[in-house]
Order: sequence, then structure tokens, then C-alpha cells
Amino acid sequence: MSEHLSPSALLAWYAESKRDLPWRHTDDAWKILLSEILLQQTQVSRGIHYWQKLVKRFPTPQSMADAEVDEVLHLWQGAGYYSRARRLHALSVQVCLPTIEGGFNGNLPLTAPALLTLPGIGPYTAAAVASIAYGEPVACVDGNIRRVMARQSKRLDPSVKEVETWANAVLYHDDAGDWNQALMELGATVCTPKRPLCGQCPVASTCAGKSTPLLYPQPKKVKRKRLDLKCTLRFDTNGLPELVQRGNDGLLAGMWGPPMGDGIDVTGLEYLGVVEHTLSHRDIFVEVWHGSCHRGTEPSTVALSSLDRKILALGGI
Ligand code: SF4
Repeated sequence: MSEHLSPSALLAWYAESKRDLPWRHTDDAWKILLSEILLQQTQVSRGIHYWQKLVKRFPTPQSMADAEVDEVLHLWQGAGYYSRARRLHALSVQVCLPTIEGGFNGNLPLTAPALLTLPGIGPYTAAAVASIAYGEPVACVDGNIRRVMARQSKRLDPSVKEVETWANAVLYHDDAGDWNQALMELGATVCTPKRPLCGQCPVASTCAGKSTPLLYPQPKKVKRKRLDLKCTLRFDTNGLPELVQRGNDGLLAGMWGPPMGDGIDVTGLEYLGVVEHTLSHRDIFVEVWHGSCHRGTEPSTVALSSLDRKILALGGI
């Protein structure tokens, strides 16, 4: 297994070639944490927009803890995976508790193990924040790093443990934050899944898999699930739709939208059409049924998911 990546070559390449992303201009752990949570499931280009909105409205954990979770969800709308917004709010509340109640007096904890105790923080996010914001020598493991490791070491299906062992072995302790970011940047921009640019790679000299990089790692077979739902889209006499807030668990938890489920009664309603929506492992098909209601809600005042926006669009909103 290759454990001899050249720190100087990789770090020099990173300094020269890294994308200019706004969270790379701050050492504020809270702002870095916001970027890491957003980027877990949102593309970088869209993540920038949401990060800027979040940082502006919630510049500190306290400012988020003082807000209602609905406001965080509202700001998050369109970014997907809304449970992240709910957990982020819970995290801010916990951070702002006094120490004797298990909190951190409004400041993010200073080590990866302590960050791991917070809601929504897994090993990757804890390591990323601790290394980038505090310089703690702790290795990150994400999909980009796994791909670089698999190709460097010619591994078809490395386990999480094996990738961790590799990432710890190659970690550059003197600048762990830049090192982790450099490895992830390499995976995101050079050692990409389908078109690796081995001719431009700063660590090609140690790469055992560079003659056949597409063999490593083997793609994981992901079974897609189909979900069929029904939804009632009812309007009041002012043209405002009936919107309800979903419960705290399940699909689109906490977000607002027209009543939706698999056992919804559509008797007497007019069929409008089907809205299709794709999540990472799920294809959702929603039958939309039109009717009237006593009192609707102005959509701009509540947090709506992309799926709900598509449904409203079908009804002409
Ligand atoms: S040489 Fe190619 S396969 Fe190896 S790490 Fe660099 S980009 Fe990836």
C-alpha cells in the first residue's frame, strides 16, 4: 500500500490550484462547520449560495440557537436533506448551553472527539473542522479520499478501516488542515471518478493504479427505491394553497407542503398529474389531486422543499 505521498508536491499543487471557495478565507470554526455540513450532500456551486446566506443570518452558534428551527429550515429550502438543518439547529442549541448542562458556553468545542459529541457531527465532519480550523492532526475520510487511496494502492473495494489507516499513515501532521483539503481537492478536481487527469496529478509518481485508474475503486451497486405518494393540492378563494408542516421524522421532516402520503383520501378531487422527484437513492412519484380549501397559506412565508415547489408549480404557483 502506498504511504509515501509527497507532502511538498501535494501541498504546492493545492496552494497553486485550489478552487477559490469562500470558506477557505476564514478560520472561524463555526463557518467552516457550516460549509462542511452543507457540502455533505449539496454540490459546491450551490453550497456557496447557501453558505453565504447562513453565515450572514447566523454568524455565530448563539445567533442560530436564538432562532426558531423553522427559520433555519426556511433558509435551507432548496438545499435538500433537510434533516441536516434540523440537526444543525439542535447542535447550536447544545453548544450554547452552559458547561454544567453539557454545553460549551456558545463556542464550538476545540477537538475532534468533543465535536463528535454534537448532534449531526460524524467522524468526517469532526476531523475536517478540527484539522482545518484548529490544525489538529487528525485525518479525514470521505469519498474523494477513498478514491485517491484506492487508486494509489490499487485496491478494488477498500473498507472504511483500510481507508482510515491509509489516511492516518499519509497525514502531514504539520499542516493537517491543508493536507486534508488538498487530498479532497485532488479527488474532486484531478482524481475524478470518470476522467482522472493523471498527467496533471502531483502524486502520480507514487500511484500504483495510474495505468488503469478507472478500475479502482469498484463502483458500489446502489439499489434505487421507488416511492409512490398522493398529494392534495387545495386552494382557497384567494388562490393560496393549503400547506401543512410535516412531522419531525421521515421524508422532508419539518418542511411545509401540501398534505402528502401514501394513504391520502382523494375522493371528489380532480386529478392534476404526477410529479417526479429524484433523491440520491430514491425515485419519488407523487400523484397530485386538485381541490378547494377554506384557508390557504402564502408559500413564501414557510420552508418548502424542491419537491413541494414542483407540486405547487403543477398547480400554477
Ligand atoms: S495518478 Fe491518476 S489515478 Fe493516481 S492519484 Fe493521480 S489522478 Fe488519481
